[in-house]
Amino acid sequence: MIDFELTRVGTPDAAIQIAAATPTAQQGATIRFIAGGTNLIDYMKLDVETPQHLVDINRIPDLAKVEKQSDGSLKIGALVRNSDLAQAPEVLAEYPVLSQALLSGASAQLRNKATTSGNLVQRTRCPYFRDLAYAECNKRTPGSGCAAIGGYHRNHAILGVSDQCIATHASDMDVALMVLDAVIHVQGAKGNRMIPIGEFYKLPGTTPHIENALEPGDLITHVTLPALPEKTKQIYLKLRDRASYEFALASAAIVMQVQTGRMRHVRVAMGGVGTRPWRMPEAERSLEGQAPTERAFRAAADAALRGARPHTDNAFKVELAKLCMIRALTTVTSA
Ligand SMILES: Cc1cc2nc3c(=O)[nH]c(=O)nc-3n(C[C@H](O)[C@H](O)[C@H](O)COP(=O)(O)OP(=O)(O)OC[C@H]3O[C@@H](n4cnc5c(N)ncnc54)[C@H](O)[C@@H]3O)c2cc1C
Ligand code: SF4
Repeated sequence: MIDFELTRVGTPDAAIQIAAATPTAQQGATIRFIAGGTNLIDYMKLDVETPQHLVDINRIPDLAKVEKQSDGSLKIGALVRNSDLAQAPEVLAEYPVLSQALLSGASAQLRNKATTSGNLVQRTRCPYFRDLAYAECNKRTPGSGCAAIGGYHRNHAILGVSDQCIATHASDMDVALMVLDAVIHVQGAKGNRMIPIGEFYKLPGTTPHIENALEPGDLITHVTLPALPEKTKQIYLKLRDRASYEFALASAAIVMQVQTGRMRHVRVAMGGVGTRPWRMPEAERSLEGQAPTERAFRAAADAALRGARPHTDNAFKVELAKLCMIRALTTVTSA
């Protein structure tokens, strides 16, 4: 682990002013915000992240609140810990898919530290990215190659992959935020921005080191969740190698209404299979207005995975993802 400077700031402006001097907000950033530190410190210990300056944002007031807004939306501060968010009364009552996703992630100790903003910006768990013994990693060193494609890639992505990177996005929380149409609020050197979560994450393409829409100095201040239609059914189902403290092989987040025997306002996203949290409009279109039958679920799952590009070791994920979606749809519609 390298030497670094640490500055504790008390205002967003102070944080942004320092961080705006970094040449990039992505891989290789020389200045980074630190929230819970569970992802950043992990990668600093491995020398994968080598910032010269950390800006501790934990003393900025008002970033750790969950507040209902007058328009019915929910405002979630960047520093709300994953544990607190999972147990927030408004989340349990109106967005249970988010609570379920949060509680399926990491361990209780990690969730007590991990924050909303840190979870959004967390980096991949690709073992080749994490291990400097492997020189080939386009995400860590642009242009160096991808050790995973020719290596062992059982846990890697099957959707959104490129010839340069097949790393899976690791988050559970962000999959739920996808079906909740979350909006990420950013304060930066050039002013304030609102980024719909569907536009926040970048596909790897030829630039896998650029993972999201953040620019130097951009501070995530909060996330908002729009009000949902009444009486939605919601579920987060996570399939993994062991029952806890494990990342998803495939997961499904679903929000829908069932009215007069038909599925309405259907939203589906999956984790563990994509290079970013993966919204599935093909499945949504296929299910909308249909009766909740096994046949309809299978048709939706087939449509959603049609664009999958598996490699040798992760080919099993195509059928696993379909079964995950079908199981989640069956459970949520029979509740
Ligand atoms: C062993 C282990 C198991 C895990 N299992 C799971 C799992 O099953 N599911 C899951 O979803 N996650 C899992 N995680 C990941 C965990 O959820 C993340 O590490 C955590 O959410 C990161 O939050 P943090 O506050 O600690 O982020 P930090 O480590 O503080 O920061 C992470 C990144 O976010 C940036 N950042 C933080 N706040 C802001 C902000 N306000 N604005 C802009 N940038 C910001 C930082 O600069 C840094 O680049 C696991 C982690 C570990 C270590
Ligand atoms: S999959 Fe992506 S993160 Fe993993 S080795 Fe290849 S380029 Fe690096």
